[in-house]
Amino acid sequence: MNPTIELEEEYCAHNYLPLPVVLVRGAGVYVWDDAGKRYLDMMSAYSAVSHGHCHPRLVQALTQQAGRLAIVSRAFYSDKLAPLLEQACRMTGQDMALPMNTGAEAVETALKAARKWAYTVKGVPADQAEIIVCDGNFHGRTISIVGFSSEDQYKAGFGPFPPGFTSVPFGDVDALEAAIGPNTAAFLVEPIQGEGGIIVPPPGYLSKVAKVCADNDVLLICDEIQTGLGRTGALLASTHDAVKPDGLILGKALGGGLLPVSMFLARREVMEMFQPGDHGSTFGGNPLSSAVALEGLRVLEDEGMIEAAAEMGAYFMAALGEIKSPLIQQVRGKGLLIGVEFYADKVAARTICERLMDKGILSKETHDTVVRLAPPLIITREQIDATVEALRQVLSELEG
Ligand SMILES: *Cc1c(COP(=O)(O)O)cnc(C)c1O
Repeated sequence: MNPTIELEEEYCAHNYLPLPVVLVRGAGVYVWDDAGKRYLDMMSAYSAVSHGHCHPRLVQALTQQAGRLAIVSRAFYSDKLAPLLEQACRMTGQDMALPMNTGAEAVETALKAARKWAYTVKGVPADQAEIIVCDGNFHGRTISIVGFSSEDQYKAGFGPFPPGFTSVPFGDVDALEAAIGPNTAAFLVEPIQGEGGIIVPPPGYLSKVAKVCADNDVLLICDEIQTGLGRTGALLASTHDAVKPDGLILGKALGGGLLPVSMFLARREVMEMFQPGDHGSTFGGNPLSSAVALEGLRVLEDEGMIEAAAEMGAYFMAALGEIKSPLIQQVRGKGLLIGVEFYADKVAARTICERLMDKGILSKETHDTVVRLAPPLIITREQIDATVEALRQVLSELEG
């Protein structure tokens, strides 16, 4: 076995099942392993590397700020946080933002805001607030978040879980409407379910959801940690439906592929629930993260990455749709968030990923049947062609 893999197997918790490749370098859409072999990265770290690996402008922002001021905690102001939050609010149309580090923390922040808003503004009796989520959701790995997951494995052995959550089928507006009661604080939803298997809801779902929420005085909170910042060919996936949620969660690509940066953004009325001492994070909003995230947002706009994702995504989907294989059940997605679903009884998605790896394409299965194709937004037609050709070869090998 590769000695690096052996060492990691000995010392690192076995909470993942990585493909057997040791990466040592990345640039743009490419990564290289410890033997010097080059791969196209179709994972982009679950959308955290939308800008591509080690984007020069972002590396420069990082190194410059690292040599100036990196961490101060929010005990003091820094000159980098406000410009980031202003830019993020300007781009998303939200009023205020609360910076965190990982996605799960920003989701927790949103849940806290929604509950406090329910008690303070909506008048829900103490400790009675309900938050509605969707079957098949993925919002992170904290105890409260896995408590409302519908994946048994995410929960098994980790209970008890906090109460106050109910789950409805994703894509079903009537089920949401039926589940809303007088104590409902918020509906938390991914516009496209990422870890759930790249599940795209019926057209118009989110705009109908927004209306139901508004009619019932329920906050609509969109988790765009994975779908946001250009991934689906729009700044936010919710913009495809012309929806401006009451609360918005960003993460992953917000760190420019260099650092963990997340935030919860919201209407002023919602964000004003937080008073000094209510909530916090030692690292959230630090100058280093803020400098990188701000440059990342500027790069998205300056380099036309959002439009590119729409164009390249359509090209990618069309090319995948032309593959005629009895193993493929469906190709689905939006922009550069694409899932290829295989027939469960014919091939394991993991096998496809292993074979693609041999051909220099890195991806990862989600569940047992879906292969995700979600490269950095800077991918070119030639790189897409190479990926499609490799997949075509893998499938014809497996069919034969
Ligand atoms: C990845 C993800 C999260 C969790 O983010 P972490 O940074 O891993 O905590 C939450 N929501 C969605 C939609 C995600 O894709």
